Amino acid sequence: MIKKNIKKIINCKEISEQMRNKLKEQVNEMNKTPTLAVILVGNNPASQTYVKNKEKACEYIGIKSKSYILDENIEEIELLELIEELNADDNINGILVQLPLPNHINKDLVIKSIDINKDVDCFHPYNIGLIDKKNNKFLPCTPLGCIEILKRTNIDLQGKHCVVIGRSDIVGKPLATLLLKENATVTIVHSKTNNLTEITKQADIIFCAIGKPKFLKKDMIKDGAIVIDIGINRDEYGKLCGDCDLEDLLEKVSYITPVPSGVGLLTVTMLMQNTINSIKNT
Ligand code: NDP
Repeated sequence: MIKKNIKKIINCKEISEQMRNKLKEQVNEMNKTPTLAVILVGNNPASQTYVKNKEKACEYIGIKSKSYILDENIEEIELLELIEELNADDNINGILVQLPLPNHINKDLVIKSIDINKDVDCFHPYNIGLIDKKNNKFLPCTPLGCIEILKRTNIDLQGKHCVVIGRSDIVGKPLATLLLKENATVTIVHSKTNNLTEITKQADIIFCAIGKPKFLKKDMIKDGAIVIDIGINRDEYGKLCGDCDLEDLLEKVSYITPVPSGVGLLTVTMLMQNTINSIKNT
């Protein structure tokens, strides 16, 4: 089944590589090396993997990365002090705090403490407020990655009915804003939505970001729909999988992104782009 429909699986790896090569050229031409500070609190294995992937991407593109690995039990004030130091350091262009944070640390307070000119994840409420404005400094990495995937697959968003499943501050909501900016018609659904399948069945393009392994199945979409799978989960065998059941959906979709090697690659690539832009924005 997968072999027969292989062309429907968007090659996100190729898209990401092309973009990273362009970013590498940009960095080569700059007279300053962009520097990204990555803060990881605790030893969550998934977070450790994400941080490693970011370090590798930095190395490839020519961005200097400085990682700060902090103890799980660190006091909130110590983390805030580190961020304050990095905010004041002219050699640091981007600051990223890997989420999730331990429960005793106020995530919103930490995000708000990052200098808006170094907020390369684009999580700060100030930068979120600028997403659909002309003078934005950064755009959020995962939503922007989704848009890049579609554009580079020659899928026009204008007038399309896009259904976003999930309304989180870091994925669902900013994605909906970016889609509106592209002139799509947007519906957001979430865990309290009635008749979710009735809505997803109307979608030209479905974006799934809920954190539920293989949630989206073929009986929930219309023929020829495009599916962008944002979820990153482990299935019952511990294997990485998305929020969408790729094997089940493949015969019905016109395009689908895979997990792994899907949107996640673009998220990191867009982070690299934001880090480079942070120098340009100062
Ligand atoms: P959150 O847990 O913050 O939000 C999940 C959202 O999904 C909520 O809005 C929730 O609704 C909704 N939801 C949960 N269950 C259902 C359901 N059964 N039906 C409809 N909606 C549902 O998650 P994130 O947005 O942070 O992440 C979502 C997924 O994306 C995760 O798997 C995460 O690992 C992945 N991710 C991937 C990235 C990448 O680079 N590919 C980057 C970031 C995240 P409600 O608001 O009502 O609770």
